[in-house]
Amino acid sequence: MDTKFNSVKNVSFKVNNIKEDLAMLMFNRSFTLAQVGKQCVVCGKRADIFSCARAEREWTISHMCEPCQNEVFEPMDG
Ligand SMILES: [Zn+2]
Repeated sequence: MDTKFNSVKNVSFKVNNIKEDLAMLMFNRSFTLAQVGKQCVVCGKRADIFSCARAEREWTISHMCEPCQNEVFEPMDG
């Protein structure tokens, strides 16, 4: 039982690093550095200007600049 509990704890601890690991795997960039430097995790360009609140909120989640967001996500009003 202790082992099971410990493994659950380890999994939830690792969740914090999933975005960092994914960014490194997919884009060879640090998610954390992208956040601190306000740089897009995909293209590396500055990501500090957004045309709408939705794009800015998406930045806080995915750390992608608006053009990269538009490429990754289907347009809402498509
Ligand atoms: Zn970008």
